[in-house]
Amino acid sequence: METWLIRNATIITMDDDRRVLSDSDLLIEGSEIKSLQPDGSETSSVPRDRVIDASGLVAIPGFVNAHTHCAMTLLRGYADDMPLMPWLEERVWPLEMKLGEEDVYWGTMLGIAEMIRAGVTCFNDMYHYFEAAARAAIDAGMRAVVSGVLLAFLPDADERLGRAIEFARDWKEKGDGLVVTMLGPHAPYTVPDHFLERVVEGAKSAGVGIHIHVSETEGEVADSQREFGQTPVERLDGLGLLDVHPVAAAHCVHLTDADIETLVEKRVGVCHCPGSNMKLASGAAPIPKLLAADAVVGLGTDGPASNNNLDMIEEVRLSALLHKLHSGDPTAVPAWQALEMGTRGSARALGIGDRVGQIKPGMKADVALIDFRQPHLFPRHDVVSHVVYAARAGDVHSVFINGRPVMLNRELQTLDESRIFQEVNDRLERLT
Ligand SMILES: [Zn+2]
Repeated sequence: METWLIRNATIITMDDDRRVLSDSDLLIEGSEIKSLQPDGSETSSVPRDRVIDASGLVAIPGFVNAHTHCAMTLLRGYADDMPLMPWLEERVWPLEMKLGEEDVYWGTMLGIAEMIRAGVTCFNDMYHYFEAAARAAIDAGMRAVVSGVLLAFLPDADERLGRAIEFARDWKEKGDGLVVTMLGPHAPYTVPDHFLERVVEGAKSAGVGIHIHVSETEGEVADSQREFGQTPVERLDGLGLLDVHPVAAAHCVHLTDADIETLVEKRVGVCHCPGSNMKLASGAAPIPKLLAADAVVGLGTDGPASNNNLDMIEEVRLSALLHKLHSGDPTAVPAWQALEMGTRGSARALGIGDRVGQIKPGMKADVALIDFRQPHLFPRHDVVSHVVYAARAGDVHSVFINGRPVMLNRELQTLDESRIFQEVNDRLERLT
């Protein structure tokens, strides 16, 4: 069993007491956090090359990207500044129809490299060729929640559902527990009732959760009211979908008060994507209201074609800024709450809050070290404020996932970036 000792760190634990420990030692044994020594007294027999002097570094639980379509890195910058539906129908979906399994593998690898560099240790993915995404995560040593996207209008939708259920059953907990599986019906407006019912049955039989886009635009809710006499949340609830656990509901921008009550009561994980919502002008999700109602709220970047990056530090900051502007209240979504959403909240939204999202003995060792020895992170009045309002992805120094270092001193340990760039370039020549 490999052990690592991170010495003299400032540790933002994200535990129930919101403790920040200074000059502390963090001992990692195997895949788990073994101990935290707040007084810097950890003396152990860890080999010298496995000891990191973290003076000047701040340890946080790795960010959990609660909603993305990772391989859409391939479409980053391919079509911008368009409304959601024409963007999907005219640009995104036609190109996606040409993608093959290895394209998705390398697109996902590119996204994983970007995320590790930004201190992200887990992502919740919904895309085509889900096995390729899961393989990429395992090869990179990245934690991932993977669901295949299900669109009922595709000619082979039934076959895809069958394969997705099989995948969900066979791949859950693969790769030393790195991979968690879900089913991914795209959205209430792309999947009819009878199909959603089969998804619910499939999720229950495979013992997995569901990842779905919900109430992203005003138009989606109006259409749902017209066609079904119900909001998307009411419709999903009526179909029993919200009784599956966990349900990761992306966006949730346009909610009624009754919808909010339902989401809270059913412990649905709301995956808030402020960057995507702003870029596509979808609106401002009622996050302060959801948090006040004790909803489970996490943060996601959405796909890199609608963001356009996978930088969770930026997403955490956007969540803190957007709701201040939108509510006219500078106390809305304070720094702690924003950081909590991007780490522990996201983990809870994905149903893995019992193993990641906090730095605490017994939790999986998914940890990012941020380099505070820089002018824009000085002086240190408040380290949480700095992470949220002043830090950027390039400040991430080292990252551990499941106890394994995937980046040390800004050098990726499991990925060959030049190979990834080459593969992506070669594939795009064919695709575009
Ligand atoms: Zn999405």
